Amino acid sequence: MSAISEADVRTRIERLMESDLSDRTGFLGAQYDLGLAWIHFPEGSGGLGAGRGFQRLVHDAVVAVDAPQPRYEIGYGMAAPTIAEVGTDDQKTRWLRPLFTGEEVWCQLFSEPGAGSDVAGLSCRAVQDGDEWVVNGQKVWTSNAHMARWGLLVTRTDPDAPKHRGMTYFGIDLHQPGVEIRPLRQMTGQAEFNEIYLTDAKVSEADRMGDVGDGWRVALTTLMNERVAIGGDTRDAGKTAMDWILEAWNDHGHDDPARRDEMMKLWVRSEVLRLNNLRAEETRTTGTPGPEGSIGKVISAELNKDAFAFALGLTGMAGTLFDGGYDLDQTRPVLDYDTLAEYFLRVRANSIEGGTTEVMRNILGERVLGLPGDVRVDKDVAWKDVVRN
Ligand SMILES: Cc1cc2nc3c(=O)[nH]c(=O)nc-3n(C[C@H](O)[C@H](O)[C@H](O)COP(=O)(O)OP(=O)(O)OC[C@H]3O[C@@H](n4cnc5c(N)ncnc54)[C@H](O)[C@@H]3O)c2cc1C
Repeated sequence: MSAISEADVRTRIERLMESDLSDRTGFLGAQYDLGLAWIHFPEGSGGLGAGRGFQRLVHDAVVAVDAPQPRYEIGYGMAAPTIAEVGTDDQKTRWLRPLFTGEEVWCQLFSEPGAGSDVAGLSCRAVQDGDEWVVNGQKVWTSNAHMARWGLLVTRTDPDAPKHRGMTYFGIDLHQPGVEIRPLRQMTGQAEFNEIYLTDAKVSEADRMGDVGDGWRVALTTLMNERVAIGGDTRDAGKTAMDWILEAWNDHGHDDPARRDEMMKLWVRSEVLRLNNLRAEETRTTGTPGPEGSIGKVISAELNKDAFAFALGLTGMAGTLFDGGYDLDQTRPVLDYDTLAEYFLRVRANSIEGGTTEVMRNILGERVLGLPGDVRVDKDVAWKDVVRN
């Protein structure tokens, strides 16, 4: 790690604040060029090779003046660390800056109709043809694909190998004829995710990430970062959904001790989550997060569901009215009484997306607590011989 001091970082932040806040792409481009995009990434890749903790200084400065921030977590929190860890120099140069500025949106093509929790069982085939790969298969639940230029794609390249060993990982350009993207409607009325049909889609060999057959290891890098991106929030008290819920509680002037008890328990759970995430962030200076990232993912998913159910309960019958909508976007509206029902419905997905709570508990049991493993009958069987529905 380089010897970047807090004073160096603050000087760079001052230079960043000279940029035009009304020019979104220009501001984020300047942040990238100053090494303040992902401060723990190497110099030249949007970072300074410094400790991850310094990112908080940048975050606080940006939030204080309401400056532009990257919009899409899949690019910022999942694609970028994967590219930084396994990408070639050419891939880092081509992909990281436009990803950060938002000029190129990324999405994640992992899940398939028969491979969600067991994503290593996936069927989408990639076959090499000279210096390109030809891809055929179906992906599903692909958030933001309709807005994305690039996809993180995991494919089956060796059906004779056991499932974890026969996969290869690519960045796929979605703007091509072999890619069909169809929206899927959710219970909020929105269609933020999609099914994707790949029919003789082409991927250049230059866009392969990691070695042929090493796709599972690369996919794990993305998944470990995904769990922290979803459940690793460390914002100060005063800025979270729980604070809004506390305000709603006060607004409604509820006074019965049972509800007060419930409110207090939710608040304590939220603080324990925040402090646990802070501690994890401090110890995780650089590199890919470990299995402990699943702690925040499980706790935040279950807390969000309970907290928004409680908040909706405060509003009585009126809170159950929901107009719905058909936005093709994943950005959340500001939380208030008009949007509360949308939040209530949307957070039901928190214990499914990015890995279900049951699967997170398996990971924590096996990889953190050292308990006996889940039953895995197909681990050493050639993928083509595994019985599938
Ligand atoms: C809002 C949302 C956005 C998403 N975005 C994306 C995206 O952008 N890209 C992407 O690739 N995917 C995305 N997903 C898909 C998500 O990763 C999968 O839905 C999830 O991994 C579960 O897979 P599945 O839906 O196939 O359920 P299944 O794997 O079929 O699971 C069904 C049930 O069985 C349980 N289960 C399965 N295996 C075990 C086990 N070993 N032990 C105990 N219980 C088990 C599960 O917990 C679940 O309750 C998204 C999902 C949602 C809801």
